[in-house]
Amino acid sequence: KKITIAIDGFSSTGKSTIAKLIAKSLGYIYVDSGAMYRAITFFAMQNNLISKDHFDKDKLIASLPQAQVSFKFNDSLGFAEVYLNNQNIENNIRTLEVSNLVSIVAAVPEVRAQLVKIQKEIGQDKAVVMDGRDIGTVVFPDAELKIFMTASAETRALRRYNELKNNGENITFEAVFENVQKRDHLDSTRADSPLIKAEDAIAIDNSNATIEEQYQNIIKLIDN
Ligand code: C5P
Repeated sequence: KKITIAIDGFSSTGKSTIAKLIAKSLGYIYVDSGAMYRAITFFAMQNNLISKDHFDKDKLIASLPQAQVSFKFNDSLGFAEVYLNNQNIENNIRTLEVSNLVSIVAAVPEVRAQLVKIQKEIGQDKAVVMDGRDIGTVVFPDAELKIFMTASAETRALRRYNELKNNGENITFEAVFENVQKRDHLDSTRADSPLIKAEDAIAIDNSNATIEEQYQNIIKLIDN
């Protein structure tokens, strides 16, 4: 039986790593909803609508019809990559610059409405594992399995720091730590669809668990 799996949680809790593994082992599609918010943020940056000291929210809202976000499955990678107006932008959206602006863009209700609509459509006819902040609460409130992932801020910042370093970014641990904390705050205090655990979500703290342990824990839940 095919089920819908919603994985939510704070930034850099390792949601996407686990979600990808689960999707692969079940033959489901993995959808990274955060990549879609990052795509809109990248679009806003390209059009000079946002920077660290200005945000033209109204203009972004007016331009949203020109920002078409989609996914295409990459067979060799084994997961879907995000496209903005048919251009693959996977390599543009994971930078610290995008990370520092994305929670501002994600707080705009019109942005959320546009992306949630696409997310719901993807889930309609496919078996999906989707990760994000509001998947169990807003996108798939009827998901059969909801996971809420947590980990200490230090663990999360260290993971993200190592990832960015490996991608060749010239950053400090402090800058990443600050970004993780700031996004947690903005994501959980915004008015529209704040990050909260769905009542029926299972909380998993993975500060001390290996990826294999986390994977096994979730697979056990699916088998039951
Ligand atoms: O998952 P990731 O860390 O890439 O998400 C980037 C940002 O996108 C989050 O910090 C949050 O502001 C926003 N987001 C959201 N709702 C989602 C997924 C991501 O608001 N479902």
